[in-house]
Amino acid sequence: MNEKRCSTATAAVYGSEEMLHPAPTTTIPEEMTMPEIAYRMVKDEAAIETQPQLNLATFVTTYMDDHATRLMNEAIAINYIDQTEYPRVAVMAARCINIIANLWHSPETSDSKTGALGIGSSEACMLGGVSAWLRWRHRRMKEGKPVDKPNLVISAGLQVVWEKFCKLWQIELRQVPLTREKRTLCAEDAIKLCDENTICVVGIAGVTWTGLNDDIEALDKALDKYNAHTGHNIPIHVDGASGGFILPFLKPHHKWDFRLKWVVSISTSGHKFGLVYPGLGWVVWRDKSYLPEEMSFSVNYLGAEVTQVGLNFSRPAAQILGQYYNFIRLGRKGYQSIHNNSMEIAKYCHKRIGEMPCFQNYSDEVVNPLFVWMMNDNYNKTAKWTLYDLQARLQQSGWMVPAYSMPKSIEDMIVMRIVVRQGMSRDMADMLLRDIEDAVKELDALKYPTTSRLTYERQEAQLGKVFTH
Ligand SMILES: *Cc1c(COP(=O)(O)O)cnc(C)c1O
Repeated sequence: MNEKRCSTATAAVYGSEEMLHPAPTTTIPEEMTMPEIAYRMVKDEAAIETQPQLNLATFVTTYMDDHATRLMNEAIAINYIDQTEYPRVAVMAARCINIIANLWHSPETSDSKTGALGIGSSEACMLGGVSAWLRWRHRRMKEGKPVDKPNLVISAGLQVVWEKFCKLWQIELRQVPLTREKRTLCAEDAIKLCDENTICVVGIAGVTWTGLNDDIEALDKALDKYNAHTGHNIPIHVDGASGGFILPFLKPHHKWDFRLKWVVSISTSGHKFGLVYPGLGWVVWRDKSYLPEEMSFSVNYLGAEVTQVGLNFSRPAAQILGQYYNFIRLGRKGYQSIHNNSMEIAKYCHKRIGEMPCFQNYSDEVVNPLFVWMMNDNYNKTAKWTLYDLQARLQQSGWMVPAYSMPKSIEDMIVMRIVVRQGMSRDMADMLLRDIEDAVKELDALKYPTTSRLTYERQEAQLGKVFTH
């Protein structure tokens, strides 16, 4: 045995041999390492990354209170799928589904609503999509019609999960373009893309790119007319990754959910505005008849019949406990006050950023606690920097504020986005705004354009735009 690698209890962590050598990158180490040393090596590796609270790029929960954190840590060893051993976890998941279904005005009269949980909205969206595809297939086969060309209609503001879903299940993805005028899904344009092979139209509540909401009520009306006229039966799946937990609390009268006739399934992320640490999504169906039978798998597992709807099998149970805790701890009023604060702080930042001479907001409205802004058109003519440079400057003070270009057909628009979540106070917002102002001052003082600016101008020049500096 190599004596040097075998640390003793008296060795200081940073006085150890291990800290002098590179970390393992390709092969497993032959010998053991003291836990204190292994812990520090892994911990330090991640230490230089963004502080989760300053990560304004993510929608995902970065703060839960001490009791929730304790509860979830205590459940860290529990596998959700072991329902025989932990039947109460399954009961709590079913209660969460009931609560969420009722928040979304489920018409299902049964005491146990039809839904499922997933690792995030991605899995929940997939389950909604698969159910739409199977229902369409059944209907077509019953009518003796071909089932080889399914398609799905959604706005170009889609989250990547819908591209994945369509690729994996070989469904044609039909995207309704966004334009400078049509900033969310245009119902009429969506209808134009529909035909007998459309498995569903997806409406998005809380478009990831912009924070805006598709007008799902308008889509429902348009589809109602279209379905009556054509005899088709095209339903709506609502991707409410963010909106699913915002709208019931902040806009209870706004109709986007099961109150609308053609909405038959809705998905959301428990780990976004459901306020649970990552690893949780939910999907609810209008009622049992919309969940195709072949999606429920009954397995005899560890001596019991377990019926499960999902793509995963094993998964952590802690998030379910966290979600159920939040429902009890916060109640409607708690969710309302937290989301309301986030909205107020988002609106405050939106106003202040909109007033800065170099910027303009993408939309006058803030409907979810996030928004995007762009460089002001006039200012952009002579600027020596881009929002990518601003992103890099803000990163130096610890903030992660992403800059990106918009989806197809408005991809020449470069925007920046802030998501305000629980954990962002007014004081933090003021610090951020000051850091933005300082960064802009520095960037404005540049003598020469930045590399990112030169690249941008080269691209724009090909489209015939001229810059002066
Ligand atoms: C975040 C998001 C998703 C994916 O959700 P995960 O919970 O990250 O899997 C899907 N759709 C929309 C609109 C989103 O914002």
